[in-house]
Amino acid sequence: MKIPKFKYHPDPIKTGSIVPSQDKCICCEQKTGYLYVGPVYTEDEINEQICPNCISNGLAHKKYGAEFTDIAGVGDYGHWDNVVESVKEEIAFRTPGFMGWQQERWWTHCNDAGIFLGRAGFEEIKEYGNQLIEELKNDSGINDEEWEEYLRALSKDDSPTAYVFQCIKCKKIGGYSDSH
Ligand SMILES: [Zn+2]
Ligand SMILES: [Zn+2]
Repeated sequence: MKIPKFKYHPDPIKTGSIVPSQDKCICCEQKTGYLYVGPVYTEDEINEQICPNCISNGLAHKKYGAEFTDIAGVGDYGHWDNVVESVKEEIAFRTPGFMGWQQERWWTHCNDAGIFLGRAGFEEIKEYGNQLIEELKNDSGINDEEWEEYLRALSKDDSPTAYVFQCIKCKKIGGYSDSH
């Protein structure tokens, strides 16, 4: 079975936001073979009970008012590039989110939202290269002396961790990091 295409989160199975499941979706009552296990912001208790289709077609947002990323977090509450409301809505209402240690932020660049590539630790960050390291350092506000130690401590599965994105327009790799 295939999952719908998400422009800003192209491989949510690889990033761990969507997992194989034989359970029914609470929203459409279908078994699609997958469920979303990322964050859900809503009054209703629908964690780990929504299928990818109901995210993609907006049904989960319509039915439960669910947001999968805090809409104000798209562009880091105004700190990163501004994007039009329709893009913010596509991320918050119709795109799988991802689990951060703190409130998730969605990286933006060239006045568009970036595509989410996944979590990364020191080894993965080295593969992405200096452009990403520079972005992470700037975002962290950590000074030169402490930076190297922080960078080496970054872990894909533990804290602190980095969240990697790519600009849809200029292809730049960027993102941010956080810890618990
Ligand atoms: Zn569904
Ligand atoms: Zn760009």
